Amino acid sequence: MIEDLTQLTLSRVPPAPDLQAYNAADELVLQRLQTYDGPAGPMLLVNDGFGALATALASTSPDWWNDSAMAGEALKLNVSANQASTPRLIESSADLKDHYALVILHAPKSLTLFEWQLSQIAGRLAEGGQCWVAVMVKHLSRGHQKLMQRYFGQINPGLAAKKARCVTLTDPLIQGSTELAHDYVAGQVNLVSLPGCFSEARPDPGALAFLAEFDQLPAVDRFVDLGCGNGVLALNYLHRHPHSQAILIDESRQATASATASAARNGRQVDLYHNNGLSGLGLTDLPLILCNPPFHQSTTLTTDIAHTLFEQAADALADSGEFWVVGNRHLNYHKTLTRWFSQVTPVSQHPKFVVFRCTGPKP
Ligand code: SAM
Repeated sequence: MIEDLTQLTLSRVPPAPDLQAYNAADELVLQRLQTYDGPAGPMLLVNDGFGALATALASTSPDWWNDSAMAGEALKLNVSANQASTPRLIESSADLKDHYALVILHAPKSLTLFEWQLSQIAGRLAEGGQCWVAVMVKHLSRGHQKLMQRYFGQINPGLAAKKARCVTLTDPLIQGSTELAHDYVAGQVNLVSLPGCFSEARPDPGALAFLAEFDQLPAVDRFVDLGCGNGVLALNYLHRHPHSQAILIDESRQATASATASAARNGRQVDLYHNNGLSGLGLTDLPLILCNPPFHQSTTLTTDIAHTLFEQAADALADSGEFWVVGNRHLNYHKTLTRWFSQVTPVSQHPKFVVFRCTGPKP
């Protein structure tokens, strides 16, 4: 049975009461499923942002393939709020094992991630199987279209509804996962970025502005890189302070997998957590936290996540600890940081980015 999204209790993580936990692309998918006449068999949901489709389709026992720890939290909340069953979870860095009759893929913004996922799906469709690409029209680029043509012989764009599309792909052309990792150097270290990891192909300019101030960082015996991406900050810190214990955290599985590969590339040992910020990790009395915070969640621009990370950092820091954070000048983090720290000192002269040293966490 397919549930009506409007009848479900669905929330986002982090909570955003003004924003819906689903969009018109989800509605279109559910509408099209009412007349689905493809093969019967297992269904796979990919990038289902807050678990809305998994909740609506729980009775069909879909598999759920997602990169994000926050999406995983939202899924748990939403299935529980609606007394629905939890789908089988597949880690985003894992290769798909089953063959699927129907795959519903929310097109990600990253074309490299889209290509990698299409390549996996093309090799894992059952005989006559279909892949539906659900997307808001404004996020469907020429690049997405070219990739669909590269991996599938038949493409049916379907009718648009409420500015959403559900494109049907059949007849896979290329079998087997495409290797799409990028390698580059930033600061003093070699980095590996897997599809979907932040700053996939080149270092982030904010991270580079931060690295330029690294000689001012205190020498400590352990530190956290909060939102580590491919590990650019932690590994450059370890280059200067090789005996420090590095704790890397990211909510994206592709990021933690990239950081694992980057650490190995530089011969470093690190502790890695796939987690929504610091929540539930029990880390306290930290002498140093480094952070280049996110400014969007999927396609939505937001500083909410950054603000939550600032608050968590203040909680986890030792009284004498330091929180170092970089941000785009126009985001005006100075004001928000002073909510949680007694001293917030800008330490960089970069025209576009500010690096702040924050001390004196407020209780
Ligand atoms: N540190 C890397 C750098 O400097 O290039 C990545 C910085 S990027 C601006 C922000 C990172 O935070 C992304 O890798 C993103 O996946 C991660 N992130 C977003 N929300 C998070 C959360 N709630 N908990 C942990 N990491 C998060």
